[in-house]
Amino acid sequence: MSEKVYNIAVLKGDGIGPEVVEQALIALREIGAPRFSFTEHPCGAGCYLECGEPLPDATVEACRTADAVLLGAMGLPDIRWDDGTEMRPQIDLRILLDLYAGVRPIYLYNGDHSPLKGLGAGAIDFVILRENVEGLFASMNGGIELRGEVAVDSMVITRSGTERIVRYAFELAVQRARSPMRVTCVDKANVFKSMAFFRSVYDRVADEFPDVERDYAYVDALSMYLVQRPRDYDVLVAENMYGDIISDLAAGLVGGLGMAPSGDIGPDAAVFQPSHGTAPDIAGKGLANPIAMILSAALMLRWLGERHGDGEAVQGAARIEEAVQRVVSEAGAGTPDIGGTMTTGELGKAIIEVL
Ligand code: NAD
Repeated sequence: MSEKVYNIAVLKGDGIGPEVVEQALIALREIGAPRFSFTEHPCGAGCYLECGEPLPDATVEACRTADAVLLGAMGLPDIRWDDGTEMRPQIDLRILLDLYAGVRPIYLYNGDHSPLKGLGAGAIDFVILRENVEGLFASMNGGIELRGEVAVDSMVITRSGTERIVRYAFELAVQRARSPMRVTCVDKANVFKSMAFFRSVYDRVADEFPDVERDYAYVDALSMYLVQRPRDYDVLVAENMYGDIISDLAAGLVGGLGMAPSGDIGPDAAVFQPSHGTAPDIAGKGLANPIAMILSAALMLRWLGERHGDGEAVQGAARIEEAVQRVVSEAGAGTPDIGGTMTTGELGKAIIEVL
């Protein structure tokens, strides 16, 4: 067994964040190898109420120096800045650590979870690559509101920012090795200069990958295609805001946000978190589905394994995914959002028993 111990910064956050993170930590301890040292750090809207800031510098530094970060969810709708926007430390962290690649796998574990009819497990299997640090979110701390009557947020697309996310998408398609390998460029290049530019950069990067099919979709039409023929997709790449929206739509195809994991990955750091928010409507009731968080922990293991050449970590990721698959393949197994009657703790325990 490897002697390696990974230092993991844990940011539980608000609402259902702590409930789902708890289950992921138990699963990671259960797999036995590799080993982890977990350190908890304050962050979120609750942290703002307690200490006056939602993302203390010490927390950012801990995330920068950790081997990886596990994050629950942040923000509460009633806790806002004076300009009306919410605390969003999870988004600030992406920018501070340059976590440019939002990797969002969409996988159907059980056909009964999908609102689409006639699909079996594995029939939906694609990955959305969301550009995480520019696009419409570049305005996040700099939009303009003028005289209380005009408000402007700008779309910012850079050549280098687009090149690196598109290259990530093509490399991922090669790694997935589906037949055919395909990367779909999701844009609105028929209308916006910024999006025509995004597409031109996509084309230049695509030239480097002659074995991967090119595919293009305007974001509005794609929203329909994803529902009508989700099997056609392999890897999709989009600017920040479009990626944000299609991620939630795609999660809805496979059982909802409780089934959608994600990784925010940069050159030197990575944060793994479920795609969902803090779900204040169900917080504290034992109704939160922990699977998106547990699968995010599996993504973390795979990323650590590939980065450090650690076969045990890659194996651990596969074991967690298989355990989830086995548990939810039984009819009625799961929390209410996926048609089951289990509590958060009971579903976590069922997965851990398989592990
Ligand atoms: P949300 O994802 O919290 O909830 C949307 C819906 O999905 C709700 O009905 C909720 O009950 C359900 N849901 C979400 N996760 C679930 C789970 N694990 N199991 C079962 N059901 C689940 O989105 P929202 O309601 O728009 O936002 C609530 C708060 O979360 C806001 O303050 C928002 O800013 C914040 N937020 C944070 C993140 C993040 O930390 N990454 C992401 C999105 C929203």
